[in-house]
Amino acid sequence: VNDTTLRDGEQAPGVAFSRDEKLAIARALDAAGIDEIEAGTPAMGPDEINTIAAIANGDLSCAVMAWCRALEFDIDAAVAAGVRRVNISVPASRIQMQVKLNADPVETAARLRRIVAYARDRDLEVAVGCEDASRATPYDLALLAHAAQESGAFRIRYADTLGVLEPFGAFEAIGRLSEATNLAIEFHGHDDLGLATANTLAALRGGARHASVTVLGLGERAGNAPLEEIVVAATQTGQFATRAKIADLNDLAAFVADCAGRAIGEAKAIVGR
Ligand code: MN
Repeated sequence: VNDTTLRDGEQAPGVAFSRDEKLAIARALDAAGIDEIEAGTPAMGPDEINTIAAIANGDLSCAVMAWCRALEFDIDAAVAAGVRRVNISVPASRIQMQVKLNADPVETAARLRRIVAYARDRDLEVAVGCEDASRATPYDLALLAHAAQESGAFRIRYADTLGVLEPFGAFEAIGRLSEATNLAIEFHGHDDLGLATANTLAALRGGARHASVTVLGLGERAGNAPLEEIVVAATQTGQFATRAKIADLNDLAAFVADCAGRAIGEAKAIVGR
């Protein structure tokens, strides 16, 4: 379970955590048995770097990772934050490659190889995040996965950035990707269609071994896959094991809701009253 409440979750409208809140949320996630947390985006500047550094030096058992674009500047900022692990995000669909990098798939894969090597040279463990993967062609995704694997990444993230997938499509897409790579696969879903939880479970059935989630599904637009739903559904269906402590989820959700200034709906799945 990779929690990105402190990175993607904070992109929810009206949500900005203080440094103390971020440290407390990181500790609560760790205490709840979450394997890995995305602590923030070091390229945002010195305040963010200092906060991520405090989390990374906070004696947590979970892995602490920083989110980076495919830029040396971002990797240098992650090094300054003292993390050992980064997610390097790269656009996977042709439209986002064009708009964000002014590049075609071959150029994007070449850039990915350079930046992963740059991060590996700095002793960082690298996960590659394929942004807008749900609108990418299987061929382009395989090209990026191959570049990631050959340049020393340990995992690839399939992001349904726009929240356009449905569960059967998620299952098939992850199945195809797992045939194209030996890398561990992580799924990152958005809830625009109300399907983030279903899509994440389908992706796990399709071969993903890591789920990227946020507490209460906090995130941009309709939000992300909710940590509490994924942990309990994965366990309840008997298909997947996590290390998360189910008994801690109510308090975790209440604390994050408080920090985010959000109410938890009476009937919210798993953590509603
Ligand atoms: Mn996202």
